[in-house]
Amino acid sequence: MENKILVTRSSMPPFEEYVDEIKDIWESHWMTNMGVKHCELQARLKEYLKVENMDLLVNGHMAIELSLQALGFSEGEVITTPFTFASTTHAIVRNGLKPVFCDIDPVTYTMDVTKLEELITDKTVAILPVHVYGHICNVDEIERIAKKHNLKVVYDAAHAFGETVDGKGVGSFGDVSCFSFHATKVYNTIEGGAVCFKDEQFGKDIYRLKNFGIKNEEVVDGVGANAKMNEFCAAMGICNLKHVDSEIQKRKKVVERYREHLEGVKGIQLAAVQDKVQPNYAYFPAVFDKDVFGKDRDEVFEKLSDNGIGARKYFYPLTNEFDCYKGQFDASNTPIALKISKQVLTLPLYADLDIADVDRICKVILE
Ligand SMILES: *Cc1c(COP(=O)(O)O)cnc(C)c1O
Repeated sequence: MENKILVTRSSMPPFEEYVDEIKDIWESHWMTNMGVKHCELQARLKEYLKVENMDLLVNGHMAIELSLQALGFSEGEVITTPFTFASTTHAIVRNGLKPVFCDIDPVTYTMDVTKLEELITDKTVAILPVHVYGHICNVDEIERIAKKHNLKVVYDAAHAFGETVDGKGVGSFGDVSCFSFHATKVYNTIEGGAVCFKDEQFGKDIYRLKNFGIKNEEVVDGVGANAKMNEFCAAMGICNLKHVDSEIQKRKKVVERYREHLEGVKGIQLAAVQDKVQPNYAYFPAVFDKDVFGKDRDEVFEKLSDNGIGARKYFYPLTNEFDCYKGQFDASNTPIALKISKQVLTLPLYADLDIADVDRICKVILE
């Protein structure tokens, strides 16, 4: 059998570069608690992401979970999408808030803003949309609706690292945008995350929440968690940031090759291409319509798997179908999301994926 192809493979810097970066840590013995690496990475990322304010966190999940806390929400409804990773919905529920699921757009798979307003009630406190696969939400319309109803907007920007809309950093939309720097993302700090925000008070609140609610040595005035990024992760982030542009360029080549093979094939819908958006090529979703293509998603998945190729049913099931939420939500209220989740596969995509492997993957799909 030919080599196995995994769905993703983490970007890592040259070993020597990382070793060089962590030498200072051995000299200072300062391994965590907002040390030198943490501060350096924060400054560099702020510039790279073109945002005004940012704070680093232990992971993307805590970025979302603590953002909702920092905004002061302890009850009410948050309008979100079920077509996402478990984290988005769990972050809402773990705060004692109720997720209200909005359906998705059939082309970008982001929140369908035409269905958003009808879900707003007097209990709604926030909107939590997801830039899923790096497809940017309809940020203008979401902002308009949020302003009109006096709601906060927290974006799950875990998939959208480094993207810009009309030259504007994607992290600058909404009240807060949350990034993930998990090992499997376009840019990683091993585990890590960040919040980008506008309001200074929010910055103070989230900083305290990530550090046990400690104000100073003698005053603890918040019931905080521990969600600090440590120095080893920050050092990895500093190294990976030097290479991220070239990694994204390599991903672009892979995506272009996929498109050469699959664009125009009847019954396969590929990732959306958005005007004015500088993409990061994070994922390459393909949606299979059995009636037209002849094979359904599961058949394609099995065929790829038989050939040693790992694709991922991402996102399936929807979060409103999870066992842990049994009986609480009805996925038939989000019919487009339900349909897409049964038809979608994300194809293998990472910077060092061989073009020859892309050819092989497409051959298996089309055969
Ligand atoms: C990865 C991811 C998260 C969570 O980020 P972690 O850094 O893994 O905690 C949240 N939302 C989405 C959409 C993600 O893909």
